[in-house]
Amino acid sequence: MLATLIPSAGLGILSFQQNETMINENVTRELRAMSNYAGREADLWVKEQILVARDLSTSISTSKILIEGLSIESQTQKTELAAQQRALEFYLKSVYRRLENVLELTVVDVEGEIIASNVASPFSVKLSQSWPEDASIQGDILNSPQWSKDYATAVFSVSVPILSIDDYILGALIVTFDMRDIQSSLKDKAKSPPGEVLLLDQAGNIMLTSAIGIPGANKSVSFDTDTMKRLQDNPGKYEIFLGPLQEKVVGLAYVSEKPSVTIIALRNYESIYSTWEQQRDLFAGLVGIMIFIVAAIAFRMSHAIVAPLQKLISATERIVKGDLNVELNNSQDDEIGQLTQRFNQMTDKLRQNQLEINAASAAMQKKNQLLETLSVTDSLTGLYNRNKLNVILSDQLARYGRNKRPFAVLMIDVDYFKSLNDNLGHVAGDEVIAAVAKKISQSIRNVDFAARYGGDEFIVILTETSVNEAEKTAERIRMQVADVHCSSLNKMLSVTLSIGIIQSEPEDISLTMLLSRVDSALYQAKHAGRNQVYCVTPKSRVKQQQHS
Ligand code: GH3
Ligand code: MG
Repeated sequence: MLATLIPSAGLGILSFQQNETMINENVTRELRAMSNYAGREADLWVKEQILVARDLSTSISTSKILIEGLSIESQTQKTELAAQQRALEFYLKSVYRRLENVLELTVVDVEGEIIASNVASPFSVKLSQSWPEDASIQGDILNSPQWSKDYATAVFSVSVPILSIDDYILGALIVTFDMRDIQSSLKDKAKSPPGEVLLLDQAGNIMLTSAIGIPGANKSVSFDTDTMKRLQDNPGKYEIFLGPLQEKVVGLAYVSEKPSVTIIALRNYESIYSTWEQQRDLFAGLVGIMIFIVAAIAFRMSHAIVAPLQKLISATERIVKGDLNVELNNSQDDEIGQLTQRFNQMTDKLRQNQLEINAASAAMQKKNQLLETLSVTDSLTGLYNRNKLNVILSDQLARYGRNKRPFAVLMIDVDYFKSLNDNLGHVAGDEVIAAVAKKISQSIRNVDFAARYGGDEFIVILTETSVNEAEKTAERIRMQVADVHCSSLNKMLSVTLSIGIIQSEPEDISLTMLLSRVDSALYQAKHAGRNQVYCVTPKSRVKQQQHS
């Protein structure tokens, strides 16, 4: 969607910019045509008025009244002056009545003093001191058009020199014209382009407009000075500014030299750009709606795809860390929903497998423990077997090497066991071996060890025990086996034991040495007549105790 939206929006913006440029160019062309036309019209009108003024001047200069009026110089003739002036005024008034767009006819002398006028207080026309010289060179002197408060209209004055018969400048006839005359011709009616033309004086006051309806059309309304200056400085250049009605307008200026006026052609901004602006706003609105739709779809997609994917990722991370208690909510029927469903199934399966593995591991552990026990246990007696005995003895020797606290070793052998086997049978013999083992176990501490050494022989290790203390334990064991119950025969048997005892010594550098020494002690007990304990006291001090 973005791939189609971006190019089409870009093309739209470009085409709107081109349209705006075209509109600007067209408006500028129209406004230039309007202002140029108005400038030409004003120029023509001024030329016509000059001709009118010249005609008047010519007819007046031949008038006897005027020449006489201007020729009055001497004091003696002053009494005639008033009469001549009245006659001149009368004459000017009669001429004035015949002219439609003339406001004033004033006759001044060479010094510029008013001699006579058709009005009581003539429009002040200032002639420069050098005007007679200027007039003799230039002829007519044009005054800049300006606004007259008295007449409430724009006025334009021409000073035409009055010459005597022998071409001396006697004075001037100043003709003031009403410029409203050109109002209707400011705009080309044939082409009638929309827009208005304003005629401004040098100060920037609006003197005339082509529109009768604009307020100020017949009044002097001042234009914003900055706008006026900008327009005058850049004639023919398109500007946007506030018009006479304080509305936004588009216009340009044409500066005319003769007459000295500024012509401004303008058009209402709204009328030019409203359609274009409406279309532009509509286009911007459509693009905005499209962007909103795209954003909504993107949001929906992120909600429907990205959010569930993020949940799946975080759930997977938990599984990687070993947490299988993960269950994702699934409310979608799409591919993401199916993926979530499969994920939940997978975690279920993983949990089941985990439980099975845990159970199998526990069973295996149990079996291992059993195997371990079996591997170190003698099956008939439940005591440690020969292998384990070797390990225990090695460990005890090492400890003794470290802490120098001696341990005692007892080697126990059943007396005349062969005969018992022969007389009572092997089953009874096994029972006796098991019973003796049980009595041994019951007679020692938890920290001590008992093992079957082989056949009817047993080894007992009493940790951190001296020979003397061990002897007591040996005697206790020997006493215990005096009555042994034989269940296969269902009778009590009296068993005697021969026991050899040694205490670990620094010389016991190996198991063989240790076992050899205790075996010798046992031999001594047997040799001494059996049913007795033989102790090898440290440093070979032999203590023998015999019991009946
Ligand atoms: P002594 O007083 O010198 O020890 O005489 P003895 O008869 O006991 O001789 P010895 O200790 O050498 O005899 C051991 C006999 O124990 C040999 C064998 O027949 C028997 N025996 C060995 N192992 C077992 C067993 O597991 N069960 C039974 N019932 N008899 C065994
Ligand atoms: Mg024996």
